[in-house]
Amino acid sequence: MAGILGFLKRHTLQIGFVAVLAPLVVLLSLQFVWLGRLERASAIAQKASLSNYLEAVGTEVQYFYRAAAERSLNLPAAFFTQGRLERAAAEWQKKPVEGSRLLFIVDYTHDRFGNILIYDSEGGALRTAPASDESLAIIVACTPWQMASLAGRRVAPAVLAVDERSPEHRIVVNPITDDASRIVGVAGMILDEDYFRTRLLPSVIARALPAFFPDAARDEPVVTVRDARGGVILMIPPGAEEGTAAVTRRLPFVFGDWTVSLHSPRSTPERWARANFAFNMTLSGLLAVVLMGGILLSLRSASRAVKLSQMKSDFVSNVSHELRTPLASIRVFAELLRLGRAPSPEKVREYGEYIEAEGRRLTRLIDNILDFARIEAGRKSYTFVNSDLHEVVAATLRTFEVHLRPSGFNVRFEPPAEPLPSIVLDPDAIGQALHNLLDNAVKYSGGMKEVAVHLGREDKDLVLVVQDHGIGIPREEQGRIFERFHRVSTGLVHEVKGSGLGLSIVRHIVQVHGGRITVESEPGRGSAFVIRLPLAPRAGAAALDGGR
Ligand code: ADP
Repeated sequence: MAGILGFLKRHTLQIGFVAVLAPLVVLLSLQFVWLGRLERASAIAQKASLSNYLEAVGTEVQYFYRAAAERSLNLPAAFFTQGRLERAAAEWQKKPVEGSRLLFIVDYTHDRFGNILIYDSEGGALRTAPASDESLAIIVACTPWQMASLAGRRVAPAVLAVDERSPEHRIVVNPITDDASRIVGVAGMILDEDYFRTRLLPSVIARALPAFFPDAARDEPVVTVRDARGGVILMIPPGAEEGTAAVTRRLPFVFGDWTVSLHSPRSTPERWARANFAFNMTLSGLLAVVLMGGILLSLRSASRAVKLSQMKSDFVSNVSHELRTPLASIRVFAELLRLGRAPSPEKVREYGEYIEAEGRRLTRLIDNILDFARIEAGRKSYTFVNSDLHEVVAATLRTFEVHLRPSGFNVRFEPPAEPLPSIVLDPDAIGQALHNLLDNAVKYSGGMKEVAVHLGREDKDLVLVVQDHGIGIPREEQGRIFERFHRVSTGLVHEVKGSGLGLSIVRHIVQVHGGRITVESEPGRGSAFVIRLPLAPRAGAAALDGGR
């Protein structure tokens, strides 16, 4: 149990990431499957909507001709039985029948085989049909009714019948029955194809379009009407590109051998559904990427926070240790002095020097911590004066050597070949930086008790190098050692205590002076820290510190 809890604690970030990633992957997969289904369903739905449009066109055409036929062909039986057929002609003259080419009546009350009368619209009267193709078509269309009349059969009233056996003469007939449901005659019309093609169809098609395609301008649906042989009768918009029809329907009622089809040159229902699918998937993918990016960022900052808190607790324990060591030495030497265990005045002086050196070390450590706090709070101030860097370095080395003497370290100072020009700097701060570097050189010496300090001039810079032959720093760590709290976490370093603040303070001090600090190091062979201070500080260097 404790093991599991420990594992969970150690891998919180990874577990958190997986906990978000897994449902996201499941969600995306489910969405993929559902969008796939939706794609198929929406293609079908789109087709159905196109088909509905064609049906609406057919219904409207049918409605037009039925209404026209019912209005004009529903003659009273009395016109036939009482010989008042001229009244029909009078009515037709009053209200011309749109869409018809010819109106006719077949009267079975006087002639068993039917007397065909044709309405002459110019004269406004009925006249006997001439021997023509039209008359023949009328005879053929009316034959079933003539036979019903001959047989004296009863028929249901008001049944419109369409005869399109001859495409040139499409006929709608209305059998007229008397009170006893016997046929007394037939009223009919031959349809005007030109009217249908050039006026009725275009207006029906155009009227229905906006209702079904609100975005007609963008969708550009193309409606094509073809005759029985597939010849194009009409195309809307005219001259549009012919394409594979998405849906095709026959016209109901009249012109039944013609078809109306619909297609969109830009997109088929399938292509439309596929584009929808791709759009939705892309959107989800993008959202997932953004989400993952956000999660990664927050995990990264969480991981940083965890690391920082780890570093801080390491810092506390390291600093405590660092404080304890000089304090212990001070106590021991002080005790020796108190107990009079110093055999000679030289020894008394030596112990005193140790106590003083350890005291300085403590002061430096506390200075570092206080400086760090001031830097973090932006309150660290510097006092810049015209100084001799050589002098500053020599003074620092002098105090440092006291501290080194018992450990047998040798600090070799290579002074500049010729006197250096004076430079504006904060001597205490530069001394502190050099101290920190020397401290590190000693701490990470790995037993090689040789440290070299070189001071010189390179062009417009003064260069200070602190070189050791110690444990060195791996290449990948070299960029990070200047970060606050950062300590190299491999090798010997574990045994050496430190606060992880020294180099970050050094870098800050050097930057405030407008200079740069770099490191050249090889693990196992030692490190060289190089500080370059410009003789004429670059503009803006002091601004880093607000001129303090
Ligand atoms: P610390 O108090 O740990 O010495 P610093 O900021 O001074 O903190 O140094 C950061 C880290 O850089 C050290 O923990 C150490 O790993 C590495 N380092 C610094 N100076 C040297 C050196 N001269 N040789 C090898 N490693 C060094």
